[in-house]
Amino acid sequence: MPRQLFVTTALPYANGNFHIGHIMEYIQADIWVRHQRMRGTAVDFVCADDTHGAPIMIAAEKAGLTPQQFVANIAAGRKPYLDGFHINFDNWHSTDAPENHELARQIYRDLRDNPGGSLIESRTIAQFFDPDKGMFLPDRFIKGECPRCHAKDQYGDNCEQCGAVYAPTDLINPYSALSGAKPELRNSVHFFFKLSDPRCVEYLQQWTQDGKLQPEVANKIKEWFSVRSNPDGSTSEGLGDWDISRDAPYFGIEIPDAPGKYFYVWLDAPIGYLASLKNLLGQRGIDYDTYMANPQLEQYHFIGKDIVTFHTLFFPACLHFSGRKTPDNIFVHGFLTVNNGEKMSKSRGTGLDPLKYLSLGMNPEWLRYYLAAKLSARNEDIDFNADDFMARVNSDLIGKYINIASRAAGFIAKRFAGQLGEVTEDGAALLHQLRSEVGAMEQLYEAREYAKALRETMLLADKINAYVDANKPWDLAKKPDQEARLQDVCTVCIKAFRILTCYLKPVLPALATQVEAFLNIVPLSYANIAQPMKAGHVIGTYQHLMQRVDIKQLEALFEAPEPIEAASEIAYPGGEAIAPTISIDDFAKIDLRIAKIVACQAVAGSTKLLQLTLDVGELDDTGEPKLRNVFSGIASMYKPEDLTGKLTVLVANLAPRKMKFGVSEGMVLAASHADDKAQPGIYVLEPVAGAQPGMRIH
Ligand SMILES: [Zn+2]
Repeated sequence: MPRQLFVTTALPYANGNFHIGHIMEYIQADIWVRHQRMRGTAVDFVCADDTHGAPIMIAAEKAGLTPQQFVANIAAGRKPYLDGFHINFDNWHSTDAPENHELARQIYRDLRDNPGGSLIESRTIAQFFDPDKGMFLPDRFIKGECPRCHAKDQYGDNCEQCGAVYAPTDLINPYSALSGAKPELRNSVHFFFKLSDPRCVEYLQQWTQDGKLQPEVANKIKEWFSVRSNPDGSTSEGLGDWDISRDAPYFGIEIPDAPGKYFYVWLDAPIGYLASLKNLLGQRGIDYDTYMANPQLEQYHFIGKDIVTFHTLFFPACLHFSGRKTPDNIFVHGFLTVNNGEKMSKSRGTGLDPLKYLSLGMNPEWLRYYLAAKLSARNEDIDFNADDFMARVNSDLIGKYINIASRAAGFIAKRFAGQLGEVTEDGAALLHQLRSEVGAMEQLYEAREYAKALRETMLLADKINAYVDANKPWDLAKKPDQEARLQDVCTVCIKAFRILTCYLKPVLPALATQVEAFLNIVPLSYANIAQPMKAGHVIGTYQHLMQRVDIKQLEALFEAPEPIEAASEIAYPGGEAIAPTISIDDFAKIDLRIAKIVACQAVAGSTKLLQLTLDVGELDDTGEPKLRNVFSGIASMYKPEDLTGKLTVLVANLAPRKMKFGVSEGMVLAASHADDKAQPGIYVLEPVAGAQPGMRIH
């Protein structure tokens, strides 16, 4: 009986477009799903927008939209990315859809009414309330003076100056970051999921430590069962209960029998996986409950390492104790960095914008191949390196694989009217060896060891190229008595190319479709690899299957500016010519924001850099403070204390860059003369008084 799989990627938060990290995760999962389908496995592969919570509510208000309109605008922009990179979800849905409201409320009721004793508990907690805005304030929206070091304007949960961790009620002279009003301490009833209940602890210890999770992930989770840190800075033993409610106004799902109370966004977000599936099944006329009740059904979620807690503790506990199926596994990947380790340079200053990649005419399957060549089953970070990218695509993918077809197909077309011949004796041994790898390839893809699968495939390509070099079809073509031999040697090459294409098909689906048309064969699967093309089979005319990466494309992708004309006689302002004219749309792509330098420190081991901690008014998915870490080459001009507390300008949408000393999340604007030897000095920009962190520069 064929397997039945339900597979998802993590739900992206609907407050912005996809970045390259999302695309990597989707490609990782898409390869796995395509592999499964090549085995004959039935797979439903779904995702959705994660739409709820305070950050979206506030962003929508600022944009003058309802939250529903705001997330609909974001959803409308998803398709070009997914189609562009050949990511083939069966359904894309929303956590604000009716299916999710219904499922989240039912799961909550089932947890509350658990026959072994309710796992939901209500408790009254004291929380800051903004009387102007008429809402309870998440920690992120409360500021005040640090109770330890007395630094001003610190967030409600920790001090960026001295690192103290505290509760918002500990702040001296607290104020609302939304309205500036003095918040009032008010009591509110919150609902908690009792993760500390012995039933939950026992179940989750078993669920997380039974060997299914990646070992490095399971080991990390093990720590959470022994010790945890509390908001007030103390630590406690074991799992803590989980506050799953928020007070109105909140963009979310209303809690049953509790008017004005909403589920915290992380309660309903993973339930969105099920809602998207239910919606898909509804489109097909399949009953959701029957589908989920199938004991053969396997459920898998691809996620990033930053959301492991939600997926390995809260989500399985919610599902299990509401009487539902739990995931068969959670596949955790690391982060993607871009051009790792390179110094901030004028030639390669930015990250990798997926839509820009496509708009430059770069082949999406280059990126799929490159990322697959770096991905393993482990939860570890990988790096996109431009030089490595070009080398792997041009030398391996094209030089080793595509070239096999281009070397042989011309002779078959021109000399033999496209007809394949017999297989040479040494060729038969080679083809047998290639085909015998199919089981190993299947296992590597199954285990998500894509890098190994591609490495093995390239080793096989080396063997085919050695066969070509040994048999020299270009020499055979010059000898009239070697006509049959030429046809047979080229036949071996074409057959070998077919086998390699099968092994690359999960990674390169569009290319595989082209090859199937060119070879005039049925769609490749692991099963039909043993049914080769017979002598006399006619293949199509070879057309170029894939271009090489052009260095110019990579330079354009990373926005290399015009080089400064060193030998120029003209006295340019500031030592360099004014850059070419851009449109207002080009300018609008650069998101410049007012940033407050909440902390600044020297970087040990660097005389050039200062490390800045910046507040740009941002929140993370949970409504908590999100500060930026930025390295800036300004240590020659400023001491840390010169800058602390000052406002400046940040390029806020510059892709994060991993540097020797850590990740830099943006760039602070500073002025300097082009010739820094003749006119040394670098000057950080500071706005006129009145500007506030987060304001955009237009
Ligand atoms: Zn402090």
